[in-house]
Amino acid sequence: MAKSLPFTISKTENFFDRLGDFVGDVFYDTLPEQGYELRDEQIYMAFQIEQAFKNSSTIFAEAGVGTGKTFVYLLYAICYARYKRKPAIISCADETLIEQLVKEKGDIEKLEKALGISIDVRLAKAREQYVCMKKLDPLAHKTSDEDILRVHDEIPDFVYEQGSSMQTFERYGDRKEYPWVPNDAWEKISWDPIQQCSTCDWRHRCGQTLNRDYYRHAEDLIICSHDFYMEHVWTKDSRKREGQMPLLPEASCVVFDEGHLLEFASQKALTYRFDSQTLATILTEYMSQDVREESLLLIEDILALHDEWFDLLKETATFVEGSNRKEVPRSKKMMELATKINEKVQSLLEQLVFDGDMFTIEDYHVKIIEEYLEFFSYGLAVLLEGNQGVFWLEETESESSFVIMPRLVEDVLKKEVFSQSIPFIFSSATMSQAGDFSYIADSLGIERYDSFTVKSPFDYEQQMRVYGHVQETEEEKWHEIRNELLESNGKSLVLFSSKEEMTQFREWSDQNTWNFSIFYEGDREISELVKKFQDDHSSVLCSYNLWEGLDVPGESLSQVIIASLPFPPHDPVFQAKRKHANNAVEEVDMPYMILRLRQGIGRLIRTSTDKGTLHIWMNKTQKEAYKNDIQQILPEETRGRFSASF
Ligand code: SF4
Repeated sequence: MAKSLPFTISKTENFFDRLGDFVGDVFYDTLPEQGYELRDEQIYMAFQIEQAFKNSSTIFAEAGVGTGKTFVYLLYAICYARYKRKPAIISCADETLIEQLVKEKGDIEKLEKALGISIDVRLAKAREQYVCMKKLDPLAHKTSDEDILRVHDEIPDFVYEQGSSMQTFERYGDRKEYPWVPNDAWEKISWDPIQQCSTCDWRHRCGQTLNRDYYRHAEDLIICSHDFYMEHVWTKDSRKREGQMPLLPEASCVVFDEGHLLEFASQKALTYRFDSQTLATILTEYMSQDVREESLLLIEDILALHDEWFDLLKETATFVEGSNRKEVPRSKKMMELATKINEKVQSLLEQLVFDGDMFTIEDYHVKIIEEYLEFFSYGLAVLLEGNQGVFWLEETESESSFVIMPRLVEDVLKKEVFSQSIPFIFSSATMSQAGDFSYIADSLGIERYDSFTVKSPFDYEQQMRVYGHVQETEEEKWHEIRNELLESNGKSLVLFSSKEEMTQFREWSDQNTWNFSIFYEGDREISELVKKFQDDHSSVLCSYNLWEGLDVPGESLSQVIIASLPFPPHDPVFQAKRKHANNAVEEVDMPYMILRLRQGIGRLIRTSTDKGTLHIWMNKTQKEAYKNDIQQILPEETRGRFSASF
């Protein structure tokens, strides 16, 4: 039975009037009765957000830490989902954060307890978060890796039993169920973009398929990452054409938590990824059919050119620190080869029409090859036409992928997302430039919107100490950070700008003895790692991703150490942004660093009883260039002390 609204409504009453009354009761009576503070900011936010639900419009809700914005949007999203009988989608910054909302003592659990209701919330995780039987099963028969063998042992029996009935199918395969597996081992057994699920024999018993079927039936909330939401937007039409369900069901409304990160997620999702083997696999299979000679000759030409192209890409690609995207020069030869391949692909698409008409080849085969060639050709067009595309090479031990991404996404978003007449709520502590939301709205193709800003209610003068530090040498910096950690007896989050920087610290720190545990991102499944850090009050958590969204109130996180200013990497995506800016430092590097730093600083004080210390490390040149800008993003009461500290 569908879940009912948490308030009554008669035939003569209007839904929004009753919703307004209910939300008012919750914030004025129910929550204070349960020990929650009555917050004026929440009442104000509720009124603003209610307008977006009433008008099915878009709103930017910029609200600082501690304003209780999550409660506000959750209340509306749940009621609206029940009213419309379609789930609300809550889209979070990334995969590491989607567990945060549903964790023990998290906001959803608190709301359930306070209101005495049960909320049907399900997670829609990225495909990489699921074990891939097509990879795991063969690997388990030849590896001696204990972690991987343990995963294989835990796969339920029905997966191997061809005749088992669907009633016995149970969900399995989520990364979270195997917390002991380090990230590098997980990559060997999880789904990756090379896997072709639509033609896989395991498909109906695959953990990913079963989990997807489960979250599709959520009645209240589906939580996913921005990347996943955008992948859904980008693939929904092609999936329907192939007879598959879109990744997400139709939603009553969408909330983008940490909404300032949506533009980048859209760019990532709207990429064309060409794996070096896929074209050859598809075309070679086609050649084995009864194909006419003209088509065969064209296919041979395409494959030879494609090989030559990939050899050149691999030869000329260069490694970029802090990124897995290798830079590929836009050389004349590379572009000429791409042009030639595209011309031949167009000719082959024309030939396929004849092949299909001759009825010697099944329609299904023609469709698959047409679909891929069109995709391939669209991607090449983005690369070849003017300056539209950003591109790079990604390489693993066994595969190379060339990725092409459109530089601007506003037109696609306007058409595919924001043309829908449903409420879109953007929530973040950092979206405007001094109250002006036009930059984010323009970059997302949003023409009409409402907005508001609510400041954090904390007493920062009493709750927060901030110190700036100038790094002379790396060795000296690590020593100082060690002193900071010893002085606070652990209880710290150390944020690094890149995985490489964290690894350098780790190599140094492993030579020292510590009387508390140090956890490193990547050693275990992330939500498990965060829980360990939260439960072990004197531990230290080192991370390069948790600048946003991490919510650990209390003693465990009493100190945040920013090991260096979080400038963006010099990878092809940011290089393209820099190239198209009038002033790359002011328009790209600085805003990114300041936004990320603001987010990192926001990890420290999470409640009105939290107290903590913030250390920000930088080099001498950076101090001269950015000290004032950094000061401006600190809570006003702490600026003087920060400025005087170094
Ligand atoms: S359906 Fe996809 S994820 Fe599942 S086993 Fe097959 S290839 Fe792997």
